[in-house]
Amino acid sequence: MESKKKLLFHFEAFLKVERKARQIMEKSLTDQYTALVHTNQQELEQLAKEFERQKHDKSYFEMQKSLYKRAEQLSKYEICTLMADRDKVSEDAHQCHYCTDFAYTSMIHCEFCQINYCTSHSFMCGCAVPSLSLVYRYSNEELG
Ligand SMILES: [Zn+2]
Ligand SMILES: [Zn+2]
Repeated sequence: MESKKKLLFHFEAFLKVERKARQIMEKSLTDQYTALVHTNQQELEQLAKEFERQKHDKSYFEMQKSLYKRAEQLSKYEICTLMADRDKVSEDAHQCHYCTDFAYTSMIHCEFCQINYCTSHSFMCGCAVPSLSLVYRYSNEELG
């Protein structure tokens, strides 16, 4: 009974740490994302003003195209995704690139580096949104 209680206590403590880590990371990624969308929007507005001044400049369309493309990429970005078919996902898929531990409940995914790692390493690979996202095996609601 005593050890069962102890186990439960450790599990609760683990969940508390996990919830906190998720909160911090979600906020950080949300802030980065918001800033990127804002900057992109500002650049588009700036470009529109430039066009008024320099009509028929071909480079305008190239720049506009790339900014729209960026806006589209950003609109598809998701800060966190829930692992699909989690019961079928092998344990290896959760292995951390840095410490080789299994990041079983949540992990950081970097699309640029093509790696997954523990939330405890913060954003160690040095990349930013939209390369970075969070992958959860259990939703925030499930963590309680
Ligand atoms: Zn990276
Ligand atoms: Zn790790």
